[in-house]
Amino acid sequence: MNYGVTSRKGFYLDLFYVIFFDYLILLIGFYAFTSTVEYFFKELLGVFGITKYILWDMQDVSFLIQFLVVFLLLDLLQFFGHFLFYRIDLLWKFHKIHPAQEELGFAFTRHFHWAEYLTFKPLLYLPFMTLNFSVSEFIAIYLWVGYGFTFFSHCNVRVPWKWMNYLLITPETHYWHHAKNRPEGRRYAVNFASTTTIWDHLFGLFYLPQEDTLSPDLGIDDQKNIPHTFIGQMIHPFKELFDTQKKKHSPQSVKKLKKK
Ligand SMILES: [Zn+2]
Repeated sequence: MNYGVTSRKGFYLDLFYVIFFDYLILLIGFYAFTSTVEYFFKELLGVFGITKYILWDMQDVSFLIQFLVVFLLLDLLQFFGHFLFYRIDLLWKFHKIHPAQEELGFAFTRHFHWAEYLTFKPLLYLPFMTLNFSVSEFIAIYLWVGYGFTFFSHCNVRVPWKWMNYLLITPETHYWHHAKNRPEGRRYAVNFASTTTIWDHLFGLFYLPQEDTLSPDLGIDDQKNIPHTFIGQMIHPFKELFDTQKKKHSPQSVKKLKKK
């Protein structure tokens, strides 16, 4: 964690990601894609003759209940989605440009592949649709709930209140999420929280060493294969997908199949 805010590796690329995501992807793309998901999902329900899709009209309940339900639901969906990005090979190809970086700072928070924001995130709207929230309300909720915390979790600081690590996402717990060597021989990453750590505790994925150990080395196993430029990182998952398909259909693999 011993590096400056702007002098660390990859700061300017991260800053470009922030501008690219917050203006182009979050403000325009996210809205457009979420509206498209809403349209097609309603059309699909229509095919099956379903016209009533509101299961609980949250516009009629008190603000406190609304806040609690919305906050916990979005937090759970984000946690579960984040977990799937590690477990499903296709999703991992896109997600890994985020954990492939070696030095983190506040600007790193938007260092993602655009496909992640424009495919997975719009789907998160569907449960909110059944609670009678519009696309605009959903995006407002998404930004209000997660915005500050995602920037905070990537900051290069330690929180003075240790108890906070057990309740909310903090740089300390999120740095362990980005650890190159999985702690205590775990096969996959730990600390998948996006806001609260409730789900990590519930599913046994929370990790924070008791003693004040040195911060872990950050990155992933095959990080040397990840390009260092924006365009390179955007193309990389598609290249990997193409290479996998090529290997599957190569004459050698066809021969192997025939032998079986
Ligand atoms: Zn992260």
